[in-house]
Amino acid sequence: MAAPPAASSYGPSAPPANMFDTVPGYEGTVAGGGGGYLPPPMPTVPMPVPEQAPSPPDWHIPSISEERAREAFATYVSSKCCYSSGPVKDGVITNMESFNTYRYRLETFMESRSTEWSQEPFAGQPVDAGVQPAPGPWQIAAQAPAFFQDHKQTIRVPYTSSVKNCHLCLGMGRNPCNACTGAGNKVCWVCNGSGFRQSNDRCTHCNGRGRENCSSCSGNGSCQCDTCHGKRQLIVFINLNVKWSTEKDDFVAQDLSGLRVENLEKVSGKELFKDAQYMVYPVMGFPDFSVAQASERLVRDHQVKYAQTSRILQQRQTIELIPITKVSYMWKGKSHVYYVYGNEFQVNADDYPATCCCSVM
Ligand SMILES: [Zn+2]
Ligand SMILES: [Zn+2]
Ligand SMILES: [Zn+2]
Repeated sequence: MAAPPAASSYGPSAPPANMFDTVPGYEGTVAGGGGGYLPPPMPTVPMPVPEQAPSPPDWHIPSISEERAREAFATYVSSKCCYSSGPVKDGVITNMESFNTYRYRLETFMESRSTEWSQEPFAGQPVDAGVQPAPGPWQIAAQAPAFFQDHKQTIRVPYTSSVKNCHLCLGMGRNPCNACTGAGNKVCWVCNGSGFRQSNDRCTHCNGRGRENCSSCSGNGSCQCDTCHGKRQLIVFINLNVKWSTEKDDFVAQDLSGLRVENLEKVSGKELFKDAQYMVYPVMGFPDFSVAQASERLVRDHQVKYAQTSRILQQRQTIELIPITKVSYMWKGKSHVYYVYGNEFQVNADDYPATCCCSVM
C-alpha cells in the first residue's frame, strides 16, 4: 500500500487507527487512503430525454487520387531504412478500392472523491474538530477544471482537525538515534574498539577509549522526531482527494478492406457527428446498425460502471468516418497490396516485396 503524501514526508510509519476520532460521514476513512471512492449522492438533475441524432450530412466516400496514394506510399517506404524503393518507382497500380469505416467514441468526464486521514507537526494551526459537524464529502465545494481535462485537488475537510500526541516519539519530540541505538557513541572504526593500533600505540582517533562519538546524533543518543519535527504533537485531519478524469471507449465498425482494426487507432477520420451533454442518449437512426448498437451498449456500460463511484459531469460521443483505400499494384510480375488510411494518409504494406535493399537488386 502506498503511503499518503503527507505522511511520507514526515515519517515512514502510519499512525495507529485509534489515533483518529470518528467523524460522522467519514467512518471508512483510513490513513494512507485506500478506502475507495465515495459514492456520490443521487443526481438532482433528471435523466436526459431521448434526442434524435441529426442525420449525418455527407455520406460520400472520400477517395484519394492515384497520385496521392503513390505519394503516401513513397513517404512510407522512405521512412523504412532498409526498404528498397523499387516497388514504389516501378510498381504499376492496377486497382484502387475505397472502403469507409466508422468509429464511434464515447467519453465520460467525471469527478471522484475519496478521503484519507493525514497529519502534520502541530505548530499552532487552527484546531476545529467538533466545533460543528463536518460537511459531507460531496458537500464540499471543489474547483472543477474545464470538461475533459484531468485534474486533482486535495481539500482539508473542515471541522476534522484535532491535536494528538505524536505516536512515534510518544510526545517526547525525540527518538533514540538509529545509528548508535541510543548510546551516543559507537565502536571506534580505527582501532575497532581495542583502543590500540597494531603497533600497540594508543589509538589517537578515540584516545584509547575504543569508542567514538556518534556523528548522527552528535553524541546525544537521540534525534529530533521526523514525524512531529520535534513539536511533540501532531495535528490530524481528513483530506478529501478530488479527481477529475475522462474514460474513453471506441468501437470501430467492421469493414471488408482486410486492414487490421488496430492500425486505425493512431489515425483520425472525418467527424460526422458530435454530441456533448451532461449525459448523452445513444445515437439513434444511424445507417450502420453496428454503430447504433455500440452506442447503446457503451452508453449503458459507462453509466453502470462510473455512476456508482463517481459523479458524471459530461459525456461526449462522436462518429468519425475513416477512409481506407486499398491499392493493388504489380511489381516484377506479382500482385501486391498496400493500404492508405485516415486523414493522415497512413500506409500499411505488410507484404512489401522489397524489405531489404541489400538483397533485392
Ligand atoms: Zn580508536
Ligand atoms: Zn547516535
Ligand atoms: Zn514525534
